[in-house]
Amino acid sequence: MILNIAMDGPVGAGKSSIAKAVADRLGILHLDTGAMYRAVGLSAIRAGVDLQDENAVTEHTKKIDVSVAHSATGQRTIVDGEDVTDFIRTPEVSMAASTVGKYLGVRREMVAIQQKLAATTPMLVDGRDICVRVLPNAPVKIFLTASAEERARRRWLQMVEKGDTTPYEDVLRDLRARDAQDMNREVDPLRPTEDAKIVDTTNMNFEQTVEYILKIVEETIHE
Ligand code: C5P
Repeated sequence: MILNIAMDGPVGAGKSSIAKAVADRLGILHLDTGAMYRAVGLSAIRAGVDLQDENAVTEHTKKIDVSVAHSATGQRTIVDGEDVTDFIRTPEVSMAASTVGKYLGVRREMVAIQQKLAATTPMLVDGRDICVRVLPNAPVKIFLTASAEERARRRWLQMVEKGDTTPYEDVLRDLRARDAQDMNREVDPLRPTEDAKIVDTTNMNFEQTVEYILKIVEETIHE
């Protein structure tokens, strides 16, 4: 059996970095599906597509080719042959990803690509709908979360380190807006499935979280 691990969680729970560390320790690939929605959002913005127009965004998504490559430094995300990895982390693209992620047609396209990748390769897949839609039969399912204040604090500290002067209150407000959009959308809203192990990292540091998840993986696959 192929070892697939499904990991979901809200904005800023540390999913991407935790997922990469856990995957590295297990010697499997890490698929960051958020980067794919970000790539669609970026591509739609660049093409001048109205993000509120579901049909236009869906048509645009069907026309483009979104793929990923794995390098020593992690995932590269590619749209029509262009590596867009360095352009998809801005606040504008974050919100665009959350908006295009509301649309069924967009989700179908992305889910199909993700399922195809995970069907042949052991990987840890992180996102919002992985446990419920992308890998409903994954042997290990994790819901990684932390309080909104703690998630905003971590995000804000990262921004401060980069010299960004955005106030903490603004980071918390944006995070809550994205949470609301992700949790209240009609198609596959973010929520923990009954069979997912909930990992609340509010009071855990990075290493503790990685070790804790590795323990869950070990216990689950030896059950
Ligand atoms: O994980 P990340 O913050 O990079 O994801 C960006 C956005 O993409 C999320 O806010 C969410 O709306 C969307 N997304 C999604 N389904 C996924 C992964 C991300 O809808 N599997």
